[in-house]
Order: sequence, then structure tokens, then C-alpha cells
Amino acid sequence: MSKTLAYAAQSPTTPLAPFSLDRRTPGPTDVEIEILFCGICHSDLHTARGEWPGTVYPVVPGHEIVGRVTSVGSEVTRFAPGSNVGVGCLVDSCRTCANCKEGLEQFCDAGMVGTYNAPDKHTGGVTYGGYSKRIVVDQDFVLTIADGTHLPAVAPLLCAGITLYSPLHHWKAGPGKKVGIVGLGGLGHMGVKIAHAMGAHTVLFTTSANKVEDALRMGANEVVISRDEAQMTAHANSFDLIVNTVAAAHNLDPFIALLKRDATMVLVGAPDSPHPSPGVFPLIFRRRSIAGSLIGGIAETQEMLDFCNQHGIVSDIELISIDKINEAYDRMLKSDVKYRFVIDMSTLR
Ligand code: NAP
Ligand code: ZN
Ligand code: ZN
Repeated sequence: MSKTLAYAAQSPTTPLAPFSLDRRTPGPTDVEIEILFCGICHSDLHTARGEWPGTVYPVVPGHEIVGRVTSVGSEVTRFAPGSNVGVGCLVDSCRTCANCKEGLEQFCDAGMVGTYNAPDKHTGGVTYGGYSKRIVVDQDFVLTIADGTHLPAVAPLLCAGITLYSPLHHWKAGPGKKVGIVGLGGLGHMGVKIAHAMGAHTVLFTTSANKVEDALRMGANEVVISRDEAQMTAHANSFDLIVNTVAAAHNLDPFIALLKRDATMVLVGAPDSPHPSPGVFPLIFRRRSIAGSLIGGIAETQEMLDFCNQHGIVSDIELISIDKINEAYDRMLKSDVKYRFVIDMSTLR
């Protein structure tokens, strides 16, 4: 074990503050990484502030990690010191269940091991995430980042990118499909860029009139102000797929009404309280579905990184020093994110 500097929340109501944690000594299959940048996901806020059940304090969030390999274990073949790598939302899984064998480690029957706030078999405590200087991760859960990419803007792909890529891919977004993305935050802005790159007719739904220009620049073909009933009903029965990223409970019915027969709205936003129950009639009369989706497996995350690299897709970021993290959380709650905060980890000293 060795000490690493980090930022942690000590309780749901205490601001994040400097903290020292233990990282394990790298084993034969481990990769040791100096963390250079870490994105701030709304899930970090839900967890740090105890909005979801099960936070173990102190908690060190952060699962949009990019960094540089500093050392590798004797059995590591795919990485060498000096390589740029990424770590996303999971750092281990059972590797033997049917889901793991299919490369869907996020659905591991034994429970995936999250990058933070998950039981850590190596230390006996919980895992600590990317708001820290250094992390040790098994090689099978480390992603390759192409040389020449703008590292801070790649960090958000590790969660926001894959969380949108996976459902867009699974529900077959592409040419000839009309795809809606609800919410232009960290997840939503990646959804607009990726759906556009996949060739779908992409429509962004937002509650923020001041984000329209940005959404069009990112690749949206149309933007709808979701609180404007006339704008919404103009799109009735026309969508093949809607991916909803909103981080707060809201009425789903106005979006369900926009789906074609047999179409699906996928919920990826994970508010702390349930959405009001959707009406049954809009679902049964057109055989519409509501579904959910959770990040993506390791192989699919690498596929997404390669796809984004080929298409020149990165996140629109606001780079901050780590002492601005609590301010960033408060701005995230006001939907005031353009469009992902990323921490410059060199500011953690
Ligand atoms: P974010 O950057 O804060 O973006 C959320 C966006 O939702 C806001 O920018 C805003 O967009 C919209 N919004 C917020 N409050 C709203 C309200 N009361 N009514 C309507 N719209 C509202 O958050 P994020 O990091 O993208 O995360 C979004 C959610 O996804 C969080 O709940 C997070 O925990 C969850 N998440 C899920 C997964 C998964 O695997 N399923 C992975 C990562 C994150 P507009 O201003 O455009 O309306
Ligand atoms: Zn996340
Ligand atoms: Zn498993």
C-alpha cells in the first residue's frame, strides 16, 4: 500500500476536501496510472451527497479518468510505462458469469466493481475513484487512448460517452432513424455528437433556451424546447428512439407521445426520486416501450473510444482546478455546465 492525495466527501453535507488514501501495491496483472484529468459526472454528485442509497464515507468520486501509465505488473502485455490510458466506471467484475463472458461486465451477476464506492477485495475497504493523483487497476479494465488526442476532452467519454454510445448502438441509431436526446448536459451533449456521427436525424430536447446554438453546432438537426407544448406536439408519433439523460424526476408522458409505433424511450438519467408513473394508454396504443441502459462493457467502451477518435468527437469541457469542485457541483444542479467539468489533476498538490 502507498498513500495517494485525493479529494473526498466525509458526509452528505460536507464539501469535498483534501484526503489521503491508500492504493494497493501493483500486482502482476495491474497497471499503475498517474491520473492527469478526471471528468465530473452527475453520478459523482448523487453519490457524494448521499442522494442514492449506499454511499460509504469518506467517498472519493471520479470515473472519467485519463492518465499515463507509470508502471506495469510482470504479466501485463498490453500497456507499458508512458502510454495514455483511460479508466471508466468499473474496475473489476466476476469475469465468469454469462454477462461477463458476453463482455457486458456492467451487468455482472455478482455485481460489477465500480471505480468508487464499491467493495474492494484488495484492500478490504471500498474503491476510491479518480479525484486523486494515482490509481492501480487490473489491465483488463484499462482502456487505450489514441496518441495525439486532447486528453482532458477525452476524459468524459469514459462515462458520458459510453453511456450514450451503448443505447444508441443497441437500439440501432443510424441513417433513416429519427433519434431524440433529452437534456444537454454531460451525457446529452455526447449523445448529440454520437447520434449525429452515427448518421441519425438528431433532435435535442432542452429546458434551456440558451443552449440551442450549441446543440446545433454539436450536430443536432433540430432543437425542441421541451417546456413548449406546441413545439413538442409538432413531433408527435415521429421518433424511432429517444434517450433521456435528465438527472431529475419529471413527467415522461410528453416524450412517450413523440415515439412512433414500437419505438423506445431509454432512460439513462438516474434521479434520486422516481419519475411520476407514466400513463399506460400512450404505451399500449402504439406498443411503445420504456427501457433503461447502464454505461457499457469494457470492449464496447474501447469500441466507443475508437469510434469517437475516428469521427473527431471529444467532449466540450470546462477545465477546473480541484479546489473549484464544490462550485462545479452547485453549477451542475443549475444545469449550468458547458458541457462537462474536467479536473486538471496537476492542481492537486
Ligand atoms: P448533467 O450534466 O447535470 O446534465 C443533466 C441535464 O438534464 C441538464 O443539463 C439539463 O439539461 C437537464 N435537466 C436537469 N434538471 C432538469 C429538470 N429538473 N428538468 C428537466 N431537465 C433537467 O448530468 P449528467 O452527468 O449528464 O448525468 C445525467 C444523469 O444520468 C444523472 O442522473 C446521472 O447520475 C445519470 N447517469 C447515468 C448513467 C447510466 O449508466 N445510466 C451513467 C452516467 C450518469 P437542459 O438544460 O438541456 O434541459
Ligand atoms: Zn458517470
Ligand atoms: Zn460476472
